[in-house]
Amino acid sequence: MPQSVTEAVGSTPTRPSPRRQGLWLRGAVRAGVAASSISRNVGLGAGAIIGGRVTMALAPSALAGLAAGRQVVLVTGTNGKTTTAHLLAAALRTVGPVAHNATGANMPDGAVAALMADPAAPVAVLEVDELHLADVADAVAPAVIVVLNLTRDQLDRGSEVRSVAAAVSAALAAHPDTVVVANADDPMVVWAVGATARVVWVAAGSRWTGDANACPRCGGTVHRDRGGGAWRCGCGLTRPVPDWTAGSASTVTGGRVIALPLRLPGSFNVGNAAVATATATALGLDPDVAAAAMSTTSEVAGRYAMTTLHGRRARMLLAKNPAGWAETLHLLGEHPVLLAVNAREADGRDSSWLWDVPFENLVSRHVVASGERAADLGVRLTYAGIDHTTVPDPIAALDALPPGPVDVAANYTAFHRIRRRIDTERGSAE
Ligand SMILES: [Zn+2]
Repeated sequence: MPQSVTEAVGSTPTRPSPRRQGLWLRGAVRAGVAASSISRNVGLGAGAIIGGRVTMALAPSALAGLAAGRQVVLVTGTNGKTTTAHLLAAALRTVGPVAHNATGANMPDGAVAALMADPAAPVAVLEVDELHLADVADAVAPAVIVVLNLTRDQLDRGSEVRSVAAAVSAALAAHPDTVVVANADDPMVVWAVGATARVVWVAAGSRWTGDANACPRCGGTVHRDRGGGAWRCGCGLTRPVPDWTAGSASTVTGGRVIALPLRLPGSFNVGNAAVATATATALGLDPDVAAAAMSTTSEVAGRYAMTTLHGRRARMLLAKNPAGWAETLHLLGEHPVLLAVNAREADGRDSSWLWDVPFENLVSRHVVASGERAADLGVRLTYAGIDHTTVPDPIAALDALPPGPVDVAANYTAFHRIRRRIDTERGSAE
């Protein structure tokens, strides 16, 4: 495990001096920062990823070098990584600067970019893709790893859930001194955490149980108490006694109630905030101070934001997989709903997951199906018994809905396409 910048980059055959290794890393960082700047200036986006890639190409051990000497928290899981990392970063900023991959770039290059952007921050909060957790953890020697939930996601790109959980498990086992903050309500997470010694269990909730009806350890049936809460399998895998429990707008630990007056909607965000509070507390913060800091967060990388789209008030919601959609559909109020689904590389080309989403919950709403896979979505809505209109262009689709505010729920590239449209409209209005 690298202990310093110089040790981290020392892998060339001739073993250059520590000073030369440090200079090489600094040069690689400068090249990455320059690449980011060029990317931004020519309008290719925020430029963070390209900067991280350039630096890693020049100095493959850059992540270890940039993380050395910092207290690093890694946040992983299928859903809620970005939100939880934002809430935790807000809490930790009450103490000092925090490096954070705020845009959700959760591969190693995104982590490098975040650390490069804030070289002096003594603390880093990095959300990490589940299948990259082992590599990132090996590089950064994290103080805390947060494991939120593990459910099906992008079946054509990733693996089935249990093998993702096995990868997470191996990553955790390689860091026995790291504190693990994990969701006690998700059997897949509990199995992945296994015998990790230093674990803080949070009953963070799990509305979606579709991936853990069969026990990940033995294949038997997981039995759940009515109304959620406790679960167990005959093999002995059972819900651990939680150290923290999320309520409706609070979390409880050791009889102490911490209010969570969030500006983000949904019970799953209360669960995310409970996890973030537990994590901040594990790092030495007062939980009330942490919770108060989180209450200032009203949007997360454009999600949950109330904005103007095509002349309408629109609330932007991102959902990428069945568990995420189940939570998102639960959030929808009485407003008409624009759904947008694409199936590009970043979404997963296979859109069969639409059949796992409980769109039946949209009954009695005004719904329009849009996005590049509007037709697939429309067929799914028809089988769900939902009256709807199908209009592939999300902007034109708005005209198919009654006047007034709308909720927009979209998967990854569809969401970002609509966000770009919002930014363009805002730019031309200024
Ligand atoms: Zn079992």
